[in-house]
Amino acid sequence: MKVVEPQTPTDIIKRPSPNWNERPGLGSDEHPLIDTIILHYTGMPTGVEALERLCSVDSKVSAHYLVEENGGIFEMVDPEKRAWHAGVSSWQGRENMNDTSIGIEVVNPGHDHGYRSFPERQIARLIELLGHLKARFDIPAHRFMGHSDVAPGRKQDPGELFPWARLADHRFGIWARKYTNDATIIAKKGMVGPDVARLNKSLATIGYTILPDDRFSQETFDALTAFQRHWRPEKIDGQLDRNTQAIVSDIADKMSLGKID
Ligand SMILES: [Zn+2]
Repeated sequence: MKVVEPQTPTDIIKRPSPNWNERPGLGSDEHPLIDTIILHYTGMPTGVEALERLCSVDSKVSAHYLVEENGGIFEMVDPEKRAWHAGVSSWQGRENMNDTSIGIEVVNPGHDHGYRSFPERQIARLIELLGHLKARFDIPAHRFMGHSDVAPGRKQDPGELFPWARLADHRFGIWARKYTNDATIIAKKGMVGPDVARLNKSLATIGYTILPDDRFSQETFDALTAFQRHWRPEKIDGQLDRNTQAIVSDIADKMSLGKID
């Protein structure tokens, strides 16, 4: 790991959660690899309620940070430790994403309680926090993911209103060029064939856990829905149209280049 002087925004408020454990490998000669950021929304009516839940011993959930809509940042778990935010999860062939990731809860009521735009102040502060974490842990641009990416079919957060394109401008995540607005449907659930085979292969290259066969399965549908929520937020229907196909293939190309700083 590159040695970078740790920096922390001075106005982070410590609000310790009891819900954490050591990352696997800590205490051995090998430093545990922390190379992924997973972004969430809180999905509760208020930030205060979310903070209480994430710090309650009974909830068995936590995250490293929570960013309030007014820009307040709380640190609940030391980022060197393992917080419990991702649950059953996988990405790019790796499971149990809590082992190697830093989890950030961005306050938003979410789809069940009135999903709304993320305020400017909140995103500005999130960008500040991500800048510190990227420098401190040397997180590559292609490893800033949504909870919905690592748990498709189960999770929708941080959702289609999350400003992924803006974050990618800061090298927190990657973004695709726009090739076409053609919305012609090429494939959908239940179909079989070479277009579906290419789609499954690309989704697997990007990181989704999916069989690289030629069937448009439930897993294909879930992964494609998660993909659209992140990279084609204008329309999320889990169907392969030409526009989605172009974006999938661009993101797959960028991911297959390997580490992007
Ligand atoms: Zn989440």
